[in-house]
Amino acid sequence: MFNLILFGPPGSGKGTQSEKLIAKYSLKHLSTGDLLRSQIAHQTPLGLEAKHFMDKGQLVPDEVVIGMISTALDQNTEVKGFLFDGFPRTAAQAEALDKLLEMRQSPINIMLALEVGEEELVGRLMKRGQTSGRSDDTDESIIKNRIAEYHQKTTAVADHYKQFDKVVLVKGEGTIDEIFDRISNEIDPIFQ
Ligand code: ADP
Repeated sequence: MFNLILFGPPGSGKGTQSEKLIAKYSLKHLSTGDLLRSQIAHQTPLGLEAKHFMDKGQLVPDEVVIGMISTALDQNTEVKGFLFDGFPRTAAQAEALDKLLEMRQSPINIMLALEVGEEELVGRLMKRGQTSGRSDDTDESIIKNRIAEYHQKTTAVADHYKQFDKVVLVKGEGTIDEIFDRISNEIDPIFQ
């Protein structure tokens, strides 16, 4: 198995790069944002609870997303590996993920952290809001709140994996293909 975390603030291009990565390396894409939006679309109790937080640009409670990821791991036992996108987002989620993967004897191999300047992030998200249909992408104050959540809670996840020397920083500005090449150059030598 090869397990990868694609990390970075909202708007850093995780979704775009994930699509290319799962195709190249045959990984199963687990995006908590996509899983949550699917729960909302199906109006499940979990979706209804999550929506309150997402609409305000806040993080959904840890136990909700950890449960969702645990179920997804159980449903995909025959895959080559996982690409985690938008998860883990708190130190508690990182610890829970490590435990879940330890039980499967397939730890995280690498965390790739996309780095993009704040002005560029807000610009990209506002632009995405014009076409994505995502309500959390249209209001500048909600966007700023998501970026603030990232700084307050999510950067701790990088510190967690730095202890194990698993974090690689990648410049997330430039063309989609340039960024993809930078990411591939980090993965290729260690891909198994
Ligand atoms: P983005 O990274 O562009 O903000 P996502 O699609 O990853 O978008 O997430 C959208 C929203 O879903 C987040 O603002 C948050 O409310 C919720 N969410 C997604 N993943 C998590 C997570 N791991 N923990 C808590 N909340 C999450």
